[in-house]
Amino acid sequence: MSSSASPQLSRHFALIPAAGVGARLGGALPKQYLPLAGKPMLQYALDTFAANAAIAHTFIVVSAADGYIDDFLATQAQLAGKVTVLRHGGDTRQESVRNGLLAIRALVDDEDWVLVHDAARPGLNDTLLNKLISALQDDAVGGLLALPVVDTLKRSVASRVQETVPREHLWAAQTPQMFHYALLQRALDQAQLQGRVSEITDDASAIEMLGLQPTLVEGSPRNFKVTLAHDVALAELFLQGKP
Ligand code: C5P
Repeated sequence: MSSSASPQLSRHFALIPAAGVGARLGGALPKQYLPLAGKPMLQYALDTFAANAAIAHTFIVVSAADGYIDDFLATQAQLAGKVTVLRHGGDTRQESVRNGLLAIRALVDDEDWVLVHDAARPGLNDTLLNKLISALQDDAVGGLLALPVVDTLKRSVASRVQETVPREHLWAAQTPQMFHYALLQRALDQAQLQGRVSEITDDASAIEMLGLQPTLVEGSPRNFKVTLAHDVALAELFLQGKP
């Protein structure tokens, strides 16, 4: 992980924020360690990145108090030397991402790509990862996996429909979200300086605040974010099926 790459030789690093507690899911374990089809949720994303030759290294951001990660990694020989734990989790996802970027500053070049991926999306597979990487290889801004919205959308007021929101041109953002290191760091710093951090719900929204337009790359329903208790059974269906 030396700092010698030229822009033409940008490397790809995965950064996985995994410092949440999964309050909406409930349960005794933090969400990322919940067993899904026999494996901890986190293992799916780590295995996908570790097995992909385009990924130079994977960093995972956990909370300072995380009491599971070391024992978990000790059992994962396939991840040895490919994953580094950063105990720099913050109070929000964006804080965890920002802290993670700062922690790897000396290891990556400004033009290296960082693929930020939620630990809570175990359905990422090699096909989707390769699709994202090849679609954005020459992209000036970077971008993200996302799904065109197919349902009719309603805005509510007190559980009644206030209005129907046209779904044309609407996408649901997924991860990985892939940007050059320096651009993403600058975007998150600027959002912080402008007091707009609460508006950022993904990495791309910080980039958008700089006036840039990230590219949307069509993802897959299997890459959904496991959030609520009933998501667990659906995730297991995807994970037990064909990759
Ligand atoms: O809570 P949610 O599912 O939206 O979190 C998305 C991702 O961000 C998860 O992988 C979670 O572990 C991570 N996260 C984090 N630090 C926080 C909150 C969430 O790394 N403070």
